[in-house]
Formats: sequence, C-alpha cells, structure tokens
Amino acid sequence: MKKYDYILAGGGCAGLSLVYHLLDSSLKDSNILILEPTLGEVPNKTWCYWNTAALPIHPEAARFSWNSFYLQQGKQQHQHGFGKLSYYHLNSHDFYAHVLEKIKNFPNVHFLKEEVSAVRCTGNEVKVDTKNSGTFSSNYVFDSRITTTNTNQTILNQVFIGLRIKSKTQLFDPESMGLMDFDTPSSSSFDFIYTLPFSSQEALIEYTAYTSEARDEKELLDSLKAFLKQKYGELEYEITFQETGQIPMTSRIHSQTSGNRHIQIGTAAGWTKPSTGYTFAQIQENCSQLVARLEKGAPQDLLFPRKLRFVFYDNILLSIAHHWPKRLPGLFINLFSTSSPDLVFRFLAEKTSFWEELKLLSRLKFGIFLKGLTRYGTY
Ligand SMILES: Cc1cc2nc3c(=O)[nH]c(=O)nc-3n(C[C@H](O)[C@H](O)[C@H](O)COP(=O)(O)OP(=O)(O)OC[C@H]3O[C@@H](n4cnc5c(N)ncnc54)[C@H](O)[C@@H]3O)c2cc1C
Repeated sequence: MKKYDYILAGGGCAGLSLVYHLLDSSLKDSNILILEPTLGEVPNKTWCYWNTAALPIHPEAARFSWNSFYLQQGKQQHQHGFGKLSYYHLNSHDFYAHVLEKIKNFPNVHFLKEEVSAVRCTGNEVKVDTKNSGTFSSNYVFDSRITTTNTNQTILNQVFIGLRIKSKTQLFDPESMGLMDFDTPSSSSFDFIYTLPFSSQEALIEYTAYTSEARDEKELLDSLKAFLKQKYGELEYEITFQETGQIPMTSRIHSQTSGNRHIQIGTAAGWTKPSTGYTFAQIQENCSQLVARLEKGAPQDLLFPRKLRFVFYDNILLSIAHHWPKRLPGLFINLFSTSSPDLVFRFLAEKTSFWEELKLLSRLKFGIFLKGLTRYGTY
C-alpha cells in the first residue's frame, strides 16, 4: 500500500489552497497525493473577498478590484467606500491554473483522478479507500468532500444564478460594485441582485436568494432578466458567461473527524460564513494557520472552531432570514449606514473585538433582533 505524508480527499478550493500553502513552507518536500474525481472539469466560478491587499494565492494577472459599493432599495442608492479595504474578484479557473502551475515544479505532489469512498484512522496512520484505485495510507488526511450528512441538516441555502453580459450601451459604473440591490421581482424569500461591473459595458449580474425551498433555475433566470429589463429598459446584450450555485447557510456544519489525523477542511468543516456564504478568504487564513501548526508539529490542534458569539450573531440573522426575510433589506441598509464599512466588513469576517461589536450593534434598530431572539435556534 502506497504511503504519503499528506493526502487531500478533494482538490477543490480548500484542497488546492492547502497544497499551495504547504509548498510555500518548510514542508514543501513532503509526499502529497491529491484525490479529485473532477480534475480540470468543473465549471468556472466567481470568488470574491475583501482585504487590505490581494491575497498571495490570487494570481496577479487575474486581479480585479473595487474600492466602493452600493446598496439599493427603490430609487435610493446608498453609496459607500470600502475604506482601507478593497473588494477582489477571482475566477476559479485562473486560481486552479495558478496553483497547478506551482505544483508542476514539485514532483513530490501527485494527482489522481479518483473518488474517495472511505477514510479510516488506524493508530498513527489514516487509510483512504478509493473507488477504483485501492487503498492508500497517510500520516494526515485533509478532507473537503461535502457529504449529504453535512448538507441535509441545512435549513437555508444561498442559491444564485449569474450572467456576465456585454451591452452595446454604457450601463455600469466600473468604480462601484453593487453589493445588494433589493429591487427584485416579488418572492417570499430574501432576494437581491449582486453586480460586479468590469467596465461601463460589461458586468456579472447575479440573482441571489436566501431560501429554505428549492428554487427552479429557470425561475431565477427569468427573475434576473426581469430585473435587467426593469432597471435598464430594453437591452441588447451578449451573454459571455453564466454561473449557478448553492451555498449552505448554516451554523450546523462542524468539523467531524474520525481522529486527529483525519481533518475536514473548507465548506465541509464549517468554514463558510453561515450568514453570508463567503468562504474563500477564510479558507486561505485557515490553510495558512494549519500549515504553520503542522510545521510546529502540533497535531492536536488542527481544528478551527468558531467563536461562540459569532455563531450567536449568525443564528439571529439566519432566524430573521428564515422567519422575516422582508426585514433584511432594511437591516443591511441600517448596518452599513450606522457604522463604517471597514468595521462592518471586519465584523462579517469575524475580526472585531467584543467592544467593537457592542458599538456596532448598539447603533442598529434592534426591534427585529429581539424578534429574531424569540425564534433563536441553531440554523
Ligand atoms: C458558484 C459559486 C460562487 C461562489 N462565490 C464565492 C465568493 O464570491 N466568495 C466566497 O468567499 N465564496 C464563494 N463561494 C463559496 C466557496 O468559496 C466555494 O464553494 C469553495 O469552492 C469552497 O471550497 P471547498 O474546497 O470547501 O469546496 P469545493 O471547492 O467544492 O471542493 C470540494 C472538492 O471535493 C471533491 N469531491 C467531492 N466528492 C469527492 C470524493 N468522493 N472524493 C474525492 N473528492 C471529492 C469535489 O469534486 C470538489 O472538487 C462560491 C461558491 C459557488 C458554488
């Protein structure tokens, strides 16, 4: 049975990010195996994050960023600057190409297009059974497979459909991205439009819903097209890219490992922010810390439990999203108009101190939060 230092069960965003960080560390000569069934065959995805600078894993040639954003309800557009932060955009295909280019220089990293069927811990070794290639063993297994045991527990999902359009006329302000535009066709859930303008004529526009029900792709696409017509009138445009997605919005996913050498990572480990769906920056931070801990040889401490007070804030927001979704537009507008965006984005990234959170929360209209508390639970 072939033995490795590290096996990655899943070579998506978290798996490849971890390998990238390993190859930047003193562990770069380790024997690594990546088991991934869809190698090179996944549709392109749009990953965005906010930060003071582009993350090192973000290839320079594929960077696009904005310094301001807006929220819109009716005719009222609330414009804000990102302050010290910028909002960065990355295509998953550019990310994969960048990481694979780096891996090419390391003959100690092996890829196998293969499906993992089981992971078992036996003493100081972890065994990985695959569908067609037998069993491998490893000192550590990092597992980003998203299982149905994870997703079946989810009450709310963020579902979205996006079109990258090229218009014949000038429609967009490329300086300012649309974080949330609430003028969507009516629905019973919390729906909004997210706009990433790349030029005055080209933008990715996404229809997003926080929903507990399955939403038909065609219905979402029709709603997106209805929004475009309502906002910009009869348009001539070319669609250059389309993406659909579903992200679990839950505080119920926790890292569940069968031993301290079988470690879950990524969405499977609960690294997705339950109230927003953002994951990319958290993956980078956790992978960097994970590698630092492996370098120190601290195998007991490879999990990243979230601070309980942030789990509490997320559950309140998810309770509002589930029971009073029509109150969320007002809540988000209130949040961004009473505190600096820098503070709000640090809060959403779980990087604020308790005192900063008290300051931020005390400025909000709190009636809806009291309502949220009455239906508090783990969502
Ligand atoms: C369309 C879309 C857009 C998103 N946009 C953003 C964004 O703008 N910003 C942000 O922060 N987050 C975003 N996210 C959320 C998040 O960043 C991504 O979902 C991210 O890909 C999560 O990384 P992951 O490694 O946990 O999961 P994945 O990237 O999905 O990787 C899991 C891997 O496991 C593999 N796998 C599954 N089963 C097996 C098996 N049996 N054996 C071996 N491998 C297996 C899969 O093929 C997959 O490659 C987005 C998500 C989607 C879907």
